[in-house]
Amino acid sequence: MLLADKTVLITGASRGIGRGTALECARQGANLALNWFHDREGIDATVAQIEALGRRVIAVEGDVAERSSALQFIAAAAKGLGSVDVFVSNAGICPFHTFLDTAPETFERTLAVNLHGAYYMTQAAANCMKDQGRGGSIIAISSISALVGGGLQAHYTPTKAGVHSLMQSCAIALGPYGIRCNSVMPGTIATDINKDDLSDPKKRAYMETRIPLGRLGEPQDVAGCVVFLASDLARYVTGAALLVDGGLFVNLQ
Ligand code: NAP
Repeated sequence: MLLADKTVLITGASRGIGRGTALECARQGANLALNWFHDREGIDATVAQIEALGRRVIAVEGDVAERSSALQFIAAAAKGLGSVDVFVSNAGICPFHTFLDTAPETFERTLAVNLHGAYYMTQAAANCMKDQGRGGSIIAISSISALVGGGLQAHYTPTKAGVHSLMQSCAIALGPYGIRCNSVMPGTIATDINKDDLSDPKKRAYMETRIPLGRLGEPQDVAGCVVFLASDLARYVTGAALLVDGGLFVNLQ
């Protein structure tokens, strides 16, 4: 019970890494506030699973690209659950596309969801934590893509480098309030975001051979690392990035 009675807020919790993280936080004793946007069935299932674990949970619909969604989400969480102890900025999109003909709308939407969303949500959560006066933990789901490129991801990788940079600056800005800020950098985790890209068995097998631990990641692999950074075990960790990639990044060949 690393998060007993802490309140954890997560964006994009209807599927994938966000859902896996929400469930692990609930197993670790947290109460949850979850943001979602399109996937009503997914968020309903997540909420039901958390309630079955005996934890309190609220779900708030909203597009993270809009600043108003951040203000609504944080206010609803503080009102509904009484506090904001941990905030996880997870919601993101990665519409794979060749660089030379990526439409401006695709670039701008990816920037708005992944980077503007993380910025406004983090700012709103941090203000709430500052007013509460007892610190907190903020974790952004960045990516291995903050460190390396991808030919079909030129509109995506800068947002993930940006999210990590946001956490570094916020670690400095919010340290005096006892608010820690860190990034998690997943490698290739099998979720809807890369389902099409990995639907080619040859590409999937190639990716698996690139990973020293010999398999793609699962949301649960990321969730445990988020729990660690959220918990008091990481009380002296801020401004850090934790790669969760099965060794992919260090595998030159
Ligand atoms: P996923 O399964 O596609 O889930 C994405 C989540 O983000 C969904 O819950 C979705 O909610 C939410 N979302 C998307 N746009 C949103 C918006 N405008 N407002 C609110 N929520 C929104 O993908 P995932 O793999 O779990 O990705 C989660 C995060 O991990 C992303 O930030 C991604 O960049 C990062 N990441 C993933 C990998 C990987 O290999 N999977 C690797 C590195 C980093 P709705 O469906 O309800 O709209």
